[in-house]
Amino acid sequence: MSRVHAKIIITDQDVVITNVVARIFSDVIHHYCMCHIQKKKNPEYLSHVYNAHGEFKNQFYKSIHLSLTIDELESNWEAIINKDGLQDNQWLQKMYYIHKKWIRAYVCHNFCAKMSTTQRSESMNKCFKDFPNSSTPLYKKFQDELIGYQKFSVKKIIFVVEVITYKVYEIYNEKTTYNVTYHVNSKEATCNCHLFEFLDILCRHVLAVLIKNAHSLPSQYILR
Ligand SMILES: [Zn+2]
Repeated sequence: MSRVHAKIIITDQDVVITNVVARIFSDVIHHYCMCHIQKKKNPEYLSHVYNAHGEFKNQFYKSIHLSLTIDELESNWEAIINKDGLQDNQWLQKMYYIHKKWIRAYVCHNFCAKMSTTQRSESMNKCFKDFPNSSTPLYKKFQDELIGYQKFSVKKIIFVVEVITYKVYEIYNEKTTYNVTYHVNSKEATCNCHLFEFLDILCRHVLAVLIKNAHSLPSQYILR
């Protein structure tokens, strides 16, 4: 578009499309649409597993969507597979083999306007309608995060040469924690939820740390 190459392409999970993308768009990051996998593919190949193992669907959903880091994902995935003896399930093996293309802990490092994790949508058109649309003010999304920060508290856990690591946790639910690193000189902050990389809008966890340290929004976080 306008002589600029796409950086990311999101498609249905399909072998033919995957091969074509690898050939034609070899420099482009390729993600699979989470809506398609979750609404179409998983029910098609896992319905017998869902029926046989009552808690599997819920635990599988949580491991895909709530694992913040790759280590966390791998340990959660292994635990639910072992619990129900699903090591030989070919669909789960296949989906694990391609996990870099669709699971949050991997894809959240790449900007794609939060599209590949939309869970409520039946189609890509609906993804676009839900978020963002032409009348969505980006500062409304920022405002949601700014209001949301008030539910969180921060605690300094490590301080090593100009870099402070904070544990950011929900005041009424200490189990929900995030790690934010803050560079004192550059005022750069990184959260392990990776919302900024994924959506270009700072998350409430980073805001909780910046409000404690910086007193105003560092200029690198105000994008064109
Ligand atoms: Zn965050």
